[in-house]
Amino acid sequence: MRVSLSHSLRLASLLTKQKTFRLHHFTTTATPEHSSGSTRDRPEPPPIRVGLTDSAGRGVFATRPIGAGELIHTAKPAVCYPSLNVLDTVCYYCLRRISNSNGSEAQRVSFCSEDCKRRCMEFYDVETKADWAAFDDYCRTHDLKYPFMVKRLACMVISGVARSDSLDILQPANLTSQMISRMEEEYGLLRNAFRKTLISDEHVAYYLSSNFQVLTKQWYIGVLARIRINAFRIELAAGLYEDLLSSAAASVEAEAAVGHAVYILPSFYNHDCDPNAHIIWIDNADAKLKALRDVDEGEELRICYIDASLDRDARQELLSRGFGFQCNCNRCLHGD
Ligand SMILES: [Zn+2]
Ligand SMILES: [Zn+2]
Repeated sequence: MRVSLSHSLRLASLLTKQKTFRLHHFTTTATPEHSSGSTRDRPEPPPIRVGLTDSAGRGVFATRPIGAGELIHTAKPAVCYPSLNVLDTVCYYCLRRISNSNGSEAQRVSFCSEDCKRRCMEFYDVETKADWAAFDDYCRTHDLKYPFMVKRLACMVISGVARSDSLDILQPANLTSQMISRMEEEYGLLRNAFRKTLISDEHVAYYLSSNFQVLTKQWYIGVLARIRINAFRIELAAGLYEDLLSSAAASVEAEAAVGHAVYILPSFYNHDCDPNAHIIWIDNADAKLKALRDVDEGEELRICYIDASLDRDARQELLSRGFGFQCNCNRCLHGD
């Protein structure tokens, strides 16, 4: 299928509309991103600011007292991707569960709504033009999930709906030379996937080549290094929406993972083994940050990156291996 001229022009116009991301966006004007309603009744900005902590770099602080159970803010993913085993039962765009798959045989993906379909098509057009067989096979064989998010981001960048540097603000993982060589191998497959089909279409290439050029090996490795320590495994909470929102419990009964996602603002929350906030997913990949207990104005909000029920040694091991830091939270200092 060839891309129509109108589509290409739309891509070109999208390029000029790309928003510039700045940290102060979140410190001063952050708004719940999910509110798609009228702009006349603007939602209150969330009661948080991003600032520097004494010892853990950036952190998120309360700008007013927050009550236990309060929804602090929601956040849309910068990029997400469904788990491969649920591709036909969750929305390919927002990861909402869908009972009746409406994906066509040719597409093999489904959407929960016309809105998700429309938003996804902005970059799915590019995805379907490339030949992913080798890349997908490699990731499946090696049981890799994060490269699928890079694949989606690559398609979003080429389509002009995301900037190539959209994850740059996140902290990258330290990579071993072994990790880097594997990523280089994956990058070769990604590059080939596009080279085989997309770039052979001159019409598309003309409009997209400038975006494609930024997808270098360094870009791929840099994105994956950030996804590695900032990706959230999304488990949709099972239960009634109101119950979940009013509950301040740290653990909600969750189904198996529907996918993974990376967010910007939620990634600024530091870790604590006895957190005062947590992140839940109810309908789809939109993250909901909730207070677990009363929080004072100025207090740092922290979430637990791992299973808080593990013992101290197990937690330290997981945090060190997965996130590259030693936890000095009160619980760990007291040997709990
Ligand atoms: Zn959806
Ligand atoms: Zn700790």
